[in-house]
Amino acid sequence: MKVPFNDLYGQYLTIKPQIDAAMDRVMKESAFIKGPLVDSFEKEYAVWNEAKNFIGCANGTDAIEMALKASGIGPGDEVIVPANTWISTAEAVTSVGARVVFVDNHPRLYTIDVSKIEDKITPKTKAIIAVHLYGLPAELDEIQRIAKKHGLSLFEDCAQSHGARYKGKMVGTFGKASTFSFFPGKNLGAYGDAGGIACDEDDLAQRLRQLGNHGRTGKFDHAFEGRNSRLDGLQAAVLSAKLPFLKDWTESRRRLAGLYSHRLSGVSAVQLPETPAHSSHVFHLYVVQVNNRDQVREALEKRGIQTGIQYPIALPFVEAYKYLGHSPSEFPVAHAAMGRLMSLPIFPEMKEEQVDYVSASLKEVL
Ligand SMILES: *Cc1c(COP(=O)(O)O)cnc(C)c1O
Repeated sequence: MKVPFNDLYGQYLTIKPQIDAAMDRVMKESAFIKGPLVDSFEKEYAVWNEAKNFIGCANGTDAIEMALKASGIGPGDEVIVPANTWISTAEAVTSVGARVVFVDNHPRLYTIDVSKIEDKITPKTKAIIAVHLYGLPAELDEIQRIAKKHGLSLFEDCAQSHGARYKGKMVGTFGKASTFSFFPGKNLGAYGDAGGIACDEDDLAQRLRQLGNHGRTGKFDHAFEGRNSRLDGLQAAVLSAKLPFLKDWTESRRRLAGLYSHRLSGVSAVQLPETPAHSSHVFHLYVVQVNNRDQVREALEKRGIQTGIQYPIALPFVEAYKYLGHSPSEFPVAHAAMGRLMSLPIFPEMKEEQVDYVSASLKEVL
């Protein structure tokens, strides 16, 4: 049996009429950049995410960078980010001229270890970026408490967590601004790069809109120098066509994750993902830990099963952050997990038989 890591073409086939019609409309209206299709998607996503404002932009990395910039984060400031995340979270901090400060992750939840945040706060700290990694909300109550106590802004990186909830409330509604990626492989994916920002404050929303569109106030007037980070009409149309399915896709991910956890429960060689009772996980990824990870992956590959590693090198140890001079002992959890993390295939169209096959194969291989 073949089990791919994801199947974007398979998903397209399940919604082909809707996607094709949406793309046709973009061609007919020649609404390629911003325009009515972008306006409608922004409104639809704001409703879905229970957010007051939602602003589309070119990708999830730009979204973080613009959220920081529009909030006045810049040179001389420090921003706390988790050691275990995709580089965009940290990259955005450096891009606005601020300094990245990494915090180790929780050994079982993989999100930022809230007990280690306060040690890293200095008089220069301005913000914390909470990342809802793999689809699990970070421990937001504790993060909010720390942010409030030290006068820091909270930002949420929701690139992997569309529709996840913390204590019943949507992620993306806790931070000053919250950012989303619609990279094709994300839980809600476009057919190219796309991203967006949710926020409550109307004046921040207005600044973000201008920032991503050359600081424009009219066609040829500019309140300030911004940049070009706009959502394409084609991507917005695809996202609008897909959004009505996101609830079912998320339920499917949860059901498949539940099946994995059931099939693999009691297998002592596998550390399974955990979900605190107050959180709803959307399983962008189903990440386990095993010994001899590379051999295990190879043996699974031979059985036709694709797996991933998110992430093989924790950020404090990638070359780009060598200048920070970090050592493994500063991030013991992230460092120990690097060689053990393995993401099993999970995508809405996956069949239960495929989960059974992956689980049985993994047990055999171990
Ligand atoms: C995908 C991702 C991003 C960046 O999104 P792009 O749209 O690829 O720029 C940011 N943060 C996290 C945690 C991600 O997984």
